[in-house]
Amino acid sequence: MTEVLYFLDCYLREFEATVEKVTDDKFIVLDCTAFYPESGGQPNDIGKLIREPDGAEFEIIYVGKFNGEISHEIACAGGTMSDGLKAGDRVKGFIDWDRRYQHMRMHTATHILASVIEKEAGAQITGNQLGLDQSRVDFSLEAFDRDKFTEYEKIANDVIAQNHPVNLYLVSRQEAEEKLSRLTTLAKGFSDEISAVRLVEIEGVTIEACGGTHLKNTGEIKGVRIEKLQNKGKSNRRMYFKLLD
Ligand SMILES: [Zn+2]
Repeated sequence: MTEVLYFLDCYLREFEATVEKVTDDKFIVLDCTAFYPESGGQPNDIGKLIREPDGAEFEIIYVGKFNGEISHEIACAGGTMSDGLKAGDRVKGFIDWDRRYQHMRMHTATHILASVIEKEAGAQITGNQLGLDQSRVDFSLEAFDRDKFTEYEKIANDVIAQNHPVNLYLVSRQEAEEKLSRLTTLAKGFSDEISAVRLVEIEGVTIEACGGTHLKNTGEIKGVRIEKLQNKGKSNRRMYFKLLD
């Protein structure tokens, strides 16, 4: 099992690892990784691996989770197969930090906006998709008062400005179930084979089970602006937002 380095340190952008498996010359499994695989509405990281000691560089163009494994897809460099990465190779990993950090800001902002519309409007979050430029939150809400969202945006920006610390915990499934008064749709109950759960607490605001990457402090978000609200039929709603810089 790959050790997931971003579980307890989302700010790790360089790390050392050993190649455990190579499939089709381009899908790489490492013994540990700080690369985030596409999941839970958050896009994957990109970056590079540099092999020790010859310094050969391998560009990572996609990271995904397949059969429980985090797989790093490298670009075909045009070299011969004997130049490729092999099991046992030592590598250094470098994450494209600008992209990842923007996703961390978007992701942490999503937690706050979701908690505000849940608390203030009684909405139920049904999904989300992060982007670099804008992100969206889907929710279920019967009475949809668009004017209220100006107020929700203000509440979210107040929370952001209050510089709440964000804490990460790895706990047993039982502890998680005790600690969470409610489970979001992002983690509706835990399947039996899950033994450890990652909890994300924005102190004084919200605590939930989440596997994504988060900031250490809400102040780093700087601010949010709600861009667009859409009716997707019945009680399904969609909200787009951007970050303030
Ligand atoms: Zn999260």
